[in-house]
Amino acid sequence: MKRENISRIVLSAKHITVSGENHIVYDASLILPSHTVMLLMGMSGSGKSLFLQGITGFFLDETLRLCQGKVTVEGEEIWQAKDGSVRLNREALGDKIALSYQEAGQSLNPRLKCRHQLRLLLRRFYSTNEIPAEMERANEFLRVSGIEPERVWSNYPCQLSGGLQQMAYLALALRTPARVLLLDEIFSNMDSALLEKVTTFLAHHVHDTGRSLLVVTHDPSLISGFAHYVAIFYSGRIIEIVHKKDKPLHPFTRYFFACFDENLTAPIRQLISANAPGTRDKISSNGCSYRHQCKQKINKCDTTVPPLRECKTENGHIHFLACFNPFDNHEDGEYDGSKG
Ligand code: SF4
Repeated sequence: MKRENISRIVLSAKHITVSGENHIVYDASLILPSHTVMLLMGMSGSGKSLFLQGITGFFLDETLRLCQGKVTVEGEEIWQAKDGSVRLNREALGDKIALSYQEAGQSLNPRLKCRHQLRLLLRRFYSTNEIPAEMERANEFLRVSGIEPERVWSNYPCQLSGGLQQMAYLALALRTPARVLLLDEIFSNMDSALLEKVTTFLAHHVHDTGRSLLVVTHDPSLISGFAHYVAIFYSGRIIEIVHKKDKPLHPFTRYFFACFDENLTAPIRQLISANAPGTRDKISSNGCSYRHQCKQKINKCDTTVPPLRECKTENGHIHFLACFNPFDNHEDGEYDGSKG
């Protein structure tokens, strides 16, 4: 998606800081344009799932809480936190954002058959006249994915496999008016045939409706066909947001993508993965968290946290980067170093 074609920013998440035993998401920011699929990638334990939950203002782990930040969808405030005090707009949250947890059963009501959940949801958002057509649209999604709708709707969530629970939740979420769907590892239980059908359906859906998806995944195959952008999480922060056709500039992003490079032989990819930097590095509040592994490090990296700044791009794509000395900073001029 080119910059000039980005009609508007749908989701803005600024400076999200989540506190538990330690700060586990710290000052993480992201923007999501309309009509966009953005993947949220990074090593396990870097904070991706908590960031998704943080966007909604609610956590599965009740010991976690928001310390600071602000989330808006289409300009409407969802929540704002300052000095540990949180102002939450519950009505807007339910209407604007839908989140599918990694364990899909946690997104569904265990006491109600899926059909009942669909009816309740439709009654909330649609008039009586519209409900039959909306139910048929939910069925259509399942049929396109090769699933007989009755197999899902006639059961309680606990009677469904993990994959079918994901499909049930997706079928529900797609019938809400939510402008942003947050999907946490929802494709991990799908075989390649189902994955192809579901991602193709979702790509058309995003194109047709202007909705946007933010998808936590470890599957690099989703970058080429499905996604527009990739946001990279490292040690509690977003360090780069880059279009899939653009060159990443952050040293960790380069390293991370190298693990997926198909031109490398499998043994070399395994070697890179096996020597990946620590995923649970202590979040640093007085320097770059990646500085102990980084070959690009300069003095400033030891003392100052690199802020996430927008880079200049020739092609109009958005590109955000948190690094004081990125790759190709001087060679190709793509990065406006004065902002760093
Ligand atoms: S800010 Fe410094 S240490 Fe961190 S990734 Fe960039 S160059 Fe490396």
